[in-house]
Amino acid sequence: MSKRPTNRLQTESEKNDIRAELLVTPLQLHEFLNAKNADVKCSFCGVGDYGIAADPTGEMAPLVSTPVPHVKGLGLWLYTAACMNCGHVVFFHAPFVASKIQGK
Ligand SMILES: [Zn+2]
Repeated sequence: MSKRPTNRLQTESEKNDIRAELLVTPLQLHEFLNAKNADVKCSFCGVGDYGIAADPTGEMAPLVSTPVPHVKGLGLWLYTAACMNCGHVVFFHAPFVASKIQGK
């Protein structure tokens, strides 16, 4: 993988190479999900609240990806939230959520 030069401004094309899903913060994801259902409880234990972790940098919403079977190079990106009582994990389609957060 080539490394981008860091001592110059990015071109518009380079800026557009940054996927929208990578720009969502944990707070933005939290606010988006609360706007959809602020009173939701865990669907497994019925009592826990869902929490949103940050990625290892602490700056981005947690993303996981899963491959699409039988389609090389294609995967699905998902944000996660986990029950703070039992650990049940739920997923949200990252491209959809990111586009809504960014008003696209
Ligand atoms: Zn739970």
